[in-house]
Amino acid sequence: MKRNEVNYNDLSPMMKQYIDIKKDYPNELLFYRVGDFYELFFEDGEIASRELELTLTGKNAGLSERVPMCGVPFHSVNPYIEKLVSKGYKVAICEQLEDSKDSKSMVKRGVIQVVSKGTVIESGFLNEFDNHYIASILDFSYLYVICYADISTGSLSVMSIPHQKEKLLSEILNLGILEVILKDNFDVELIGLLKGNYGIEVSISENILENQYQNLYENLEDEHLKESVRHLIYYLVVRELKDLSHMNPAKQIFLDDYLEMDVHTVRNLELIETLRLKERTYSLLWLIDKCKTSMGSRKLKQWLMNPLKDKNLIMDRYNKIDIFHNEFILKDKLRNALYKVYDIERICGKLTCGNLNARDFLQLKNSLGTLPEIKEICEELKFDYPLNTHPEIYDLLERAIYENPPVTIKEGYLIKTGYNEELDELKEVRSGGKTFIADFEAKLKETTGIKTLKVGYNKVFGYYIEVSKGQVSQVSDELHWERRQTLTNCERYISPELKEKEALILNAEEKIIELEYQLFLEVKQYIKEKLLSLLDTAEILSELDALCSLSVCAEEYHFVRPELNEEHHIEIKAGRHPVVEKVSNQEYVNNDCIMDKSINTLLITGPNMSGKSTYMRQLAIIIILAQMGSFVPASYANLPIIDKIFTRIGASDDLVSGESTFMVEMKEAKNAICNATINSLILFDELGRGTATYDGMSLAQAILEYISKNIQCKTLFSTHYHELTGLERNFSNIKNIHVSAKEENGSITFLHKIKSGAVDKSYGIHVASLAGMPKSLLNRANEILNYYEQESKKKKQTDEDTIQLVMNFEEEKKTDDLREYLNQIEPLRVTPMEALNILYELKQKI
Ligand code: ADP
Ligand code: MG
Repeated sequence: MKRNEVNYNDLSPMMKQYIDIKKDYPNELLFYRVGDFYELFFEDGEIASRELELTLTGKNAGLSERVPMCGVPFHSVNPYIEKLVSKGYKVAICEQLEDSKDSKSMVKRGVIQVVSKGTVIESGFLNEFDNHYIASILDFSYLYVICYADISTGSLSVMSIPHQKEKLLSEILNLGILEVILKDNFDVELIGLLKGNYGIEVSISENILENQYQNLYENLEDEHLKESVRHLIYYLVVRELKDLSHMNPAKQIFLDDYLEMDVHTVRNLELIETLRLKERTYSLLWLIDKCKTSMGSRKLKQWLMNPLKDKNLIMDRYNKIDIFHNEFILKDKLRNALYKVYDIERICGKLTCGNLNARDFLQLKNSLGTLPEIKEICEELKFDYPLNTHPEIYDLLERAIYENPPVTIKEGYLIKTGYNEELDELKEVRSGGKTFIADFEAKLKETTGIKTLKVGYNKVFGYYIEVSKGQVSQVSDELHWERRQTLTNCERYISPELKEKEALILNAEEKIIELEYQLFLEVKQYIKEKLLSLLDTAEILSELDALCSLSVCAEEYHFVRPELNEEHHIEIKAGRHPVVEKVSNQEYVNNDCIMDKSINTLLITGPNMSGKSTYMRQLAIIIILAQMGSFVPASYANLPIIDKIFTRIGASDDLVSGESTFMVEMKEAKNAICNATINSLILFDELGRGTATYDGMSLAQAILEYISKNIQCKTLFSTHYHELTGLERNFSNIKNIHVSAKEENGSITFLHKIKSGAVDKSYGIHVASLAGMPKSLLNRANEILNYYEQESKKKKQTDEDTIQLVMNFEEEKKTDDLREYLNQIEPLRVTPMEALNILYELKQKI
């Protein structure tokens, strides 16, 4: 039975109400609260029963046939919602807005919140280490603006991105955005990619929020950015009915404040997950995360994904790590204190958008309880963090919240004795009910002298005074007792005092629960008004935790503090790849990497399995660690500040987009070549391998030449094409290095040691023999190899001519004033006024 096909007028009042509400939420699964259950009807019921593996039943709704229905108990609804949301559904939660006892007609109902992939905040769905973002992306034809929020922590950020699809996609994937809100004019192909290839939830919404939450965007100057924030919060506030009072004002992110890494680089270097298993374990983040709080872990991840370019900011982190090294006792104390801090950010998120309970408050209280100690440590360390310890919130929670509360907030046992007089009286009545009755009975016996008098209780009459027939005469009128019931051998009365007490006792329980709930809400409201400053505290704690973690790593893994230079000079002594070092059961062989100003490219040759890829990754990781403010795995390091890292490592077919290895390879190479500057780092690992030998080799050489002449950025280029090593002779900025191997009695040992110069052998046949290939096959391979080697010696001279040929084709590298001037302009940062001035100056220069 379909919802749209039933006749509205035939329906029962409740089902009419359902249809009225459902009209506004046609695309959401409507969880409709009926007593202790949420019920889903019609198509929603069918979907839910299928996805949640629940029985589909029916409900009488005034029609001849029962309406399809599926129900879940209200107290265990969260896992069901999470499951549906993770499958890409949106869930609208419709509650009873008044107590069914209080209303004589239909209970009022209404949707209180919509939950979608980007806005679930129940803990079952959230990973403590990651932010969960929902974003608005607006396309302004010449740039994209992206505004992203994590509802669970209250963070809100906005940035503009150049109008390039790959860049936009890279940002979305690097941030791990789960849901995007777009306008109707958005590129259809991109929508397809987001949805189909990357499983990102896409919603279309045209409107922007008016007259509400101005505080979230009024700090921004650019109208585009403002619009994007308002577009996102319209969706959150109007469509999903979220309370955003815990949101921080939007923070503008400038992409070029950070080392740029596209999504391939992040994956290839296994910064946050491994390539093969897509797991956090064995990633760089896994290695360096020694945080004591999940807020710290999230902060560290943000740092790793956004290494800095400002020398002073980087040095500031180094300095703090140094301080921790010197003050290791204070550092340990700080870490112990941080260990007691819960996820304050997520508690704040729950407070406005989720089901916060009294246990969350206890976690908050315990967290705040350690702040005075943390503040003291910070002062001793001479860190100038303005840490607010929120004594007033701590004090309130300490006075108000009961130590052992239940998970629900509608069963009482939330509030401590001594916090509220009325509540204490009610509790006394409840627990005192029995004592009161006994005392009352004794008192009556004494005042009336009736020895057989008893006070009892039954369901029909409530509390009564019972006097046996023989003593009824002693019940005088002055007592003002009222006869209620006559039994064979006794009479039962009630008295005004007993009546009054009875009302109190019987109502006490109900009132206690209601009052505790109200008091709980008052506490919540009080804290809600202080949320933003509470979030500032959380921010400081997460930063402290992340810094401590970096310091612990530096010690545990013997990292050193790098020096930073502005002379394009790389000097790493005894560098290591920290993850390989940690995970491998072999002794790690450290390696230097020296590239002074005059060297741009190291051309790396060496047998398979010798350590070329590891060496390249090692350099990138050392640079990323250095710029995120961490010490680095080496005995000495002097590094330039890099603006962008590009990598092409490993032969991974982009399975999702279905492109061949070679196509992906060329796209990544193009991306690097078109976007790299003299301050960038490029890693090309066996580029060109995906096509026929001469084809690949020619491309590889052309690319190398292009980089060396036109970009001149630091480049590591590993290759099996030994012919390329000849380039060293023609380009003073290309240098050959190789990874050494030792050949003994026909077998080879990998030394993993980098040496200068090229190897002339690739030992491919040795590796094949290690892999257990048949002897006869290997012999034949050696024969063929000998033949080719003879041939190539004959051809050597012609090869060199070829190199020359290619070089002459290259255009001269262009450097003129105008170009330099244009290069300096950062379009995303200039104001319209400055743009006019620039235009004027450009004309002058011509
Ligand atoms: P290639 O790229 O030359 O084929 P890899 O860089 O993939 O080689 O390294 C192959 C293996 O050798 C790695 O998995 C690692 O275990 C080991 N290895 C590489 N470099 C080192 C090193 N410096 N010290 C110890 N083991 C290393
Ligand atoms: Mg390799």
